[in-house]
Amino acid sequence: MVNILDEIMKFIPNKSDISDSYFEGANIILYTKNRDLFINNNGLIKDIVNNIKKRVELRCDPSILEGEEKTKKIIEELIPAEAGLSEIIFDKQRSMIIIEADKPGLVIGKGGGLLKEIRQKTFWVPIIRRNPPIKSQLVENIRKVLYENNDYRKKFLHAIGKRIYDGWIREKKHEWVRITFLGGAREVGRSCLFLQTPESRIILDCGFNVAASGENAYPYLDVPEFDIEELDAVILCHPHIDHVGFLGYLYKYGFKGPTYCTEPTRDVSALLALDLLNIAHKEAKKALYNSTNIKDFVKHSVCLDYREVTDITPDVRLTFYNAGHNIGSAMAHLHIGNGLHNLLYTSDMNYEITNLLSPAVTKFPRLETLIIESTYGHREDIFPTRKECEDYLIDIIKKTIENGGKVLLPVLGVGRSQEILLILEKAIREGILNKIPIFIQGMVWDVTAIHTAYPEFFNNKVKKDIFHKDQNPFLADVFKRIVGRKEMMQIVDEEGPCVIVATSGMLTGGASLEYFKHLSENPKNSLVLTCYQGQGSLGRRLEDGEREIMDNDTKTLIKIKMAIHTIRGFSGHSNYQQLINFVGRLDPRPKKILCNHGESSKCVELASTIHRMFGIETSAPKNLEAIRLK
Ligand code: ZN
Repeated sequence: MVNILDEIMKFIPNKSDISDSYFEGANIILYTKNRDLFINNNGLIKDIVNNIKKRVELRCDPSILEGEEKTKKIIEELIPAEAGLSEIIFDKQRSMIIIEADKPGLVIGKGGGLLKEIRQKTFWVPIIRRNPPIKSQLVENIRKVLYENNDYRKKFLHAIGKRIYDGWIREKKHEWVRITFLGGAREVGRSCLFLQTPESRIILDCGFNVAASGENAYPYLDVPEFDIEELDAVILCHPHIDHVGFLGYLYKYGFKGPTYCTEPTRDVSALLALDLLNIAHKEAKKALYNSTNIKDFVKHSVCLDYREVTDITPDVRLTFYNAGHNIGSAMAHLHIGNGLHNLLYTSDMNYEITNLLSPAVTKFPRLETLIIESTYGHREDIFPTRKECEDYLIDIIKKTIENGGKVLLPVLGVGRSQEILLILEKAIREGILNKIPIFIQGMVWDVTAIHTAYPEFFNNKVKKDIFHKDQNPFLADVFKRIVGRKEMMQIVDEEGPCVIVATSGMLTGGASLEYFKHLSENPKNSLVLTCYQGQGSLGRRLEDGEREIMDNDTKTLIKIKMAIHTIRGFSGHSNYQQLINFVGRLDPRPKKILCNHGESSKCVELASTIHRMFGIETSAPKNLEAIRLK
């Protein structure tokens, strides 16, 4: 066994009390056959944690657990009916029970009282999972993959722990830290960074560029320094295709290590990846990977909460911080080599409070190098305020509805769509808008369902509404789900004034394009574009004033009479001013800043502005450039 376990055993007065020990990633699990010790260890575990500064947990040996039937009965008797208990799942290998309920708070009880009682009466360790109030097949499938692979996961997590604690496998000749930009440098799309330390090989984000073709679409994994066999871990900051779309490919080509992310990021990533496969299938294109590879990602995911400090290799400690970009989005803080270097990678972030999320965090324990996104890094990238945008949107909807028209909102599936749903719900609740139906198309609905599984990730205002006022905005009865073509046509032909929210965001395909074709010839209707419209997309052509469009399916000319509006400012990214404010408020101030994730001019401009304003060394690296951090 590994040294750290010997180290821990020194603190145990009666060695025979501990029957087994295991790693679960960086956490250390001790098993005991002594029920009294499990129930009351008089601060023994606390002492160990204080001394070795690692997370240690005591569980009962499977042989002394209460039987499953009896445990079930005890739990059902203890938990109040209002908790909405739905399932109790036994993970005997790990002496854990997973309790799924509608209201986790009622299972936990005041001050954790009920949980404690469950432990004392059954000797199992209870874990509570929230049933999403909007049912999501995907969330259920993901949980199923994890439960079905309990045995595999136990071994997999133990192997991670061994790698972390078993010491060094590489010869330690030098102390250096180096980062290579494999994609997403001086461009948006295919974000991928490769971090090398004396001991570790880590990928940060692994996306691809949907708008590019051929070689330019994928990260440069063929650089000499990268070898998939040596890859220790992937860190995934948020679920957008340009950050996660290529991850399945790593698993396809033999990666068996962990991907670290938050729970919402895991779920939405799996959903987006499956959607990509679907699209490839429909267009009869060859997909980059298959659904088994996506399952592999889920099987190998290690989910962390914000601010949960975790060793991921012998010399890298990871902490996620809120990035404010979409639900569960994170900035990755890496503490390298016991104080050798501290790196913060923002991935995509928003330094602004939105209806749904808190702004990106600016305070860190230590920080030497910052890698910051530059999407809106040019001084002209200032948008109207969120309030102005909201008022404008509501105003368009109000006028269209009064005229008897319909409003079409093409959106990206994740982030902004939920932000817009909150705006509409609020306006209706407060009586600013009449109570009209808001139709939500499949993919947007699925992502929204995932949102309802993780209310802890919302900002304080939304959390308070949900937990204290029992007012979950996503459950409002104005939202109606649409599935399939038949329902779609009913809305077009029979429904009165309404709002329709559908993907894709640039009218490049999907339900939004279908609706557009049916709604565009009626001058009473309105189209509101809220996201970035890529060059050549139908959305961009409409923004540029085109009003006659050829329908390629029917070969007819569509004369567009509906009103076309664009609203910038619902962005999930910081605008120019917010980027500068973010850097200005960083505590501590970094010594070096690298600007990526932006068109070339934006990265360069942001790097030079930050240097000028704060006197910090900056650069805007290109793809394939490697930068030595230490
Ligand atoms: Zn993003």
